[in-house]
Amino acid sequence: MWHFLDLSQDQKLERRRLLDLYGSLAQVSALIPLAILQIYFFIGWLQRRWARRSGGDDVPSSPQLKKQRSDALNGSVARSKETWRKVSWWMGDTIDIWGSRVTKGEIVAGVVWTAWLLFLSCVQTQGDYLHLTKRFGIVGASQLPLQYLLAFKSPFSPIHHLTGCSWPTLNAAHQVLGRVSTLLFYLHAGFYLNFFIQAHVLAKRIKDWDVILGLVGTIAFTAVGTTALSWIRKLSYRVFYTTHVTLASILLPVLYFHVHHIRIYILETLVVYAVHLVLRILNEHKVEGSLTMVSGTANLLEINIPISAKSKSKSIMQWQPGQHVYASLANGPVYTRPLKSRSPFTIASLPSEDGNLKLVARVLNGNTAALAKAATEGATGKSTSMPLILEGPYGLSTHSNTLLGYNRVLFIAGGVGATFIVPLYRTLLKDLSPSPGSRRRQNVAFVWAVRDEAETNWAGPEDEEEKKGMQERMTVYATRSGRMDEDEQKTNEMDTGIEMERLLPSGGMDGSAQGWQINHGRPNLGEMVDRALSHTREDAKVAVLVCGPRSMADEVRMKSSKWVGKRDIWLHVEAFGL
Ligand SMILES: Cc1cc2nc3c(=O)[nH]c(=O)nc-3n(C[C@H](O)[C@H](O)[C@H](O)COP(=O)(O)OP(=O)(O)OC[C@H]3O[C@@H](n4cnc5c(N)ncnc54)[C@H](O)[C@@H]3O)c2cc1C
Repeated sequence: MWHFLDLSQDQKLERRRLLDLYGSLAQVSALIPLAILQIYFFIGWLQRRWARRSGGDDVPSSPQLKKQRSDALNGSVARSKETWRKVSWWMGDTIDIWGSRVTKGEIVAGVVWTAWLLFLSCVQTQGDYLHLTKRFGIVGASQLPLQYLLAFKSPFSPIHHLTGCSWPTLNAAHQVLGRVSTLLFYLHAGFYLNFFIQAHVLAKRIKDWDVILGLVGTIAFTAVGTTALSWIRKLSYRVFYTTHVTLASILLPVLYFHVHHIRIYILETLVVYAVHLVLRILNEHKVEGSLTMVSGTANLLEINIPISAKSKSKSIMQWQPGQHVYASLANGPVYTRPLKSRSPFTIASLPSEDGNLKLVARVLNGNTAALAKAATEGATGKSTSMPLILEGPYGLSTHSNTLLGYNRVLFIAGGVGATFIVPLYRTLLKDLSPSPGSRRRQNVAFVWAVRDEAETNWAGPEDEEEKKGMQERMTVYATRSGRMDEDEQKTNEMDTGIEMERLLPSGGMDGSAQGWQINHGRPNLGEMVDRALSHTREDAKVAVLVCGPRSMADEVRMKSSKWVGKRDIWLHVEAFGL
């Protein structure tokens, strides 16, 4: 139990020493999970090397080798791999809490980290109530540099390089850590408040600057945490973004002047913050792009930015499938830009092959509406060229290479989610074999559900040969049954960040303007998944990539779950929604 104690000067000095020690320990201990991850990567690397040396992933032709492999498979290595796959899958399961979707992995990580930080807050406090109270504060403050580092949206993010995780994953960790730190700050503030009341000094202390700044900090943390809730971000991304960016900046001086013991952590955070800001500005590209509505659609905007090896923006040629950029009209002074909310859009072309960066945006109410307005303000029916600001690229650039390590790949896209899938699909077909009809290409399948076939009009490459080759493993489903009620459509779009289809039972087949076959009705996702996973070797590696409405991703996950443990399946869900 903890009590209010009268400490001698020496005891106070010892308390200060312990406070600083446990603050540092809490900060440094964040390196432990990173170190464990590095060991895990190293073991994986050794395993791959070993597998390559002992014959690679191909099925061995010699019966003896085959037996050896199957023995190894049945052995403990195979069993531990299977368990690991099941655990990873379980960690990826999601739960809705207060309108926010969190994975079980995030909950486990949050609980473990909270328990660890609470332990560091309590240990060696020697029954001293004020020691415990201060400990909550310093341990919470020690997490701030990491907290800001996890939000680091840059290809130079050190955490990204150490973990190999994409920004959405790191952002999820940022949110978890934010909640854990806020809990510690609440405990710090609550315990102090109780002390002031018990010691009858509340009226006096509430006027002191350290207490006022502490209260301002606590309120600011509450506002940051509350506006970051998923339903508020969906309601108004602008409110979330402005509050987040403004308060994240204001909090640093507030905490710096709150107490001097935590200044080291605030200065570290300030460095992270400043570097992040500079990198984001340096990552901006002013380009000239043409804006036009995708033919046959009323709310799909296409942005094309021509690039050549000689142009100023030639670095765009290096941008990879699966990455995204933030795009906005180039208006307003440079220094106000980082404060403005921009929209992320996925790179929908292969810049180096096409000589063009294409973005396709579903027009909603904010930034996308402004872009669409700019597109339609010019000569009707023609594209309008104008200066744009692109920031990026962000997101993993390694998807294409990763896919080459899989025996089968199933791509599933819903509506504008194909901006993520199409470039990966095109790249994979090319990487597997340049010639259509080849056996290697048969291990790839792409299913694309759209409301209306016109929504696929942006996807065909210029090159006719490639376009023909693309049709080979691609099936388009047009699901529209008629006009959707406008309100219903809007609600669905807000919910998913993409769009929902009104799904019909499967129906007939047609050709499209792009030349690909259009099936009318809904794709049977379960059947697609089963087809990709059945008739494969037990040790075959199968990748399923989905980008579409949340309901679609959920269905694919559900249908795939029965294969976990039976096959080496990697399900990647790219989410455009929040
Ligand atoms: C990594 C990623 C890639 C994406 N790629 C594409 C794409 O290729 N094509 C496409 O049409 N859409 C894509 N989106 C979704 C797209 O960014 C949003 O639809 C767009 O930002 C909405 O802009 P708005 O200002 O018109 O939205 P509003 O009408 O103001 O809001 C509509 C919805 O979009 C959300 N939203 C608004 N701004 C952002 C933002 N900066 N980040 C995340 N969500 C936001 C809001 O919370 C709300 O739920 C992607 C999203 C992400 C996260």
